[in-house]
Amino acid sequence: MNTNNHNHNVLVELKGIGKFYGRGQRQIRAVENVNFKIHDGEFVALLGPSGCGKSTLLRMITGLMPPSAGEVLYRGEPLRGVNEHATIVFQSFALFPWLTVQANVEVALQARGVASDERRARALKLIDLVGLDGFESAYPRELSGGMRQKVGFARALAVEPELLCLDEPFSALDVLSAESLRGELMELWTSRALPTRAILLVSHNIEEAVMMADRIIVMDKDPGRVVTEIQVALPQPRHRKDLHFLAMVDRVYASVAGETPREPTALMGTAPDEPGKTEMLPHAPINAIAGLVEYLAEEGKRADLYFVGEKLGTELDEFLPAVEATELLGMATLQGGDIELTPLGETFAATTILARKEIFAQRIRSLPIFQWIVDELQHAPEHRLPQEFFLKVLESDFTSEEAERQLDIAINWGRYAEVFEFDDDRDELYLPANGLTLVGVGDTISSRK
Ligand code: ADP
Ligand code: MG
Repeated sequence: MNTNNHNHNVLVELKGIGKFYGRGQRQIRAVENVNFKIHDGEFVALLGPSGCGKSTLLRMITGLMPPSAGEVLYRGEPLRGVNEHATIVFQSFALFPWLTVQANVEVALQARGVASDERRARALKLIDLVGLDGFESAYPRELSGGMRQKVGFARALAVEPELLCLDEPFSALDVLSAESLRGELMELWTSRALPTRAILLVSHNIEEAVMMADRIIVMDKDPGRVVTEIQVALPQPRHRKDLHFLAMVDRVYASVAGETPREPTALMGTAPDEPGKTEMLPHAPINAIAGLVEYLAEEGKRADLYFVGEKLGTELDEFLPAVEATELLGMATLQGGDIELTPLGETFAATTILARKEIFAQRIRSLPIFQWIVDELQHAPEHRLPQEFFLKVLESDFTSEEAERQLDIAINWGRYAEVFEFDDDRDELYLPANGLTLVGVGDTISSRK
């Protein structure tokens, strides 16, 4: 696409954008100091794990919400209120069930005061363009998910936006519909059949981003921020099996997953009841972690992250947490897009269930959140506390939804390792009466050295 990015070609510019939800102690820093530009002619992908602020950025770019800090410029002018030049397609489009396909597309034009004859003509043309010719008078309930999403695209395109924003528009579709809709969008875009000047696609699927975008802006969370930008200089159409394509996917994987050693303290954070930032446990249940470690052991301990992701499910939201967990637990290291088992990881893969639990227990005892839970249980009557107790404290660091997920993961890990038990009937955590767990955490660790 467009390669000479002079300033007059800039459609959108984000300058020092921050967005904070809520106030005081519970304030969530959704994104911090985000700077990037989108040029005329560009297809840009925003890639990152869920919760890193992608949708938040889209809402600010389209003017649905103002930033808390910084400025959004559109064609060099500060954006005030709704951005008339941009539209969003969401993950699942809310079509009006009582309107036909055609009427659903016309709605957008009606809102902008387009006369009825022109409305009709434009809607029919777009319906044709997205491949729904013949379905003009069908109702949404008569359409497949993929077709409904096409109506959504047609509606978004009806107002001829300069900037088309797509918020994970394929992720609610089955694999085949998603693939065909991607293909059709790319064809419309590369053939310049659309009046659209630029596309901004939010995605948490690496392959999708590499398949479609000219440039990928890689984000990470806590706080939401831009980590790096990657230019994808591959001609369209692109092919999944192409070596250059695979090399690019690899590179993006490497930048998303990061590299080990990061600061060990940054990995750990502080306990939830202490001042300072509490690091989140990755949302990876034991099965996912064990599955990854076993797979790596079979593959000869070092493997390309991309291929492992393919093998175990490409969705970043499932795969990356497992990668993060093996790293956090010292079972694997990351480097240059590869993941490699450590000797501990190899031992884990090769040993008995009992020894696995032992390894796991030893590792998680060094994490502040587990030290805190065990410590509280040791000082509680009968070494028992309701889960509510832990949730309350976690809620000072996380949203209530995240606090629940954190406790779920902690219980999943803790139970497996028999560091503590969970009573499903009473929703209580407790220490087993005769376990090693009655020994202080510090003692346990030092006595095993
Ligand atoms: P993404 O689209 O990358 O998944 P979001 O932009 O939806 O991320 O969210 C970024 C962060 O902001 C998350 O921690 C999310 O929980 C929080 N967040 C998003 N919207 C709101 C809101 N309306 N109120 C409070 N927190 C929010
Ligand atoms: Mg989102």
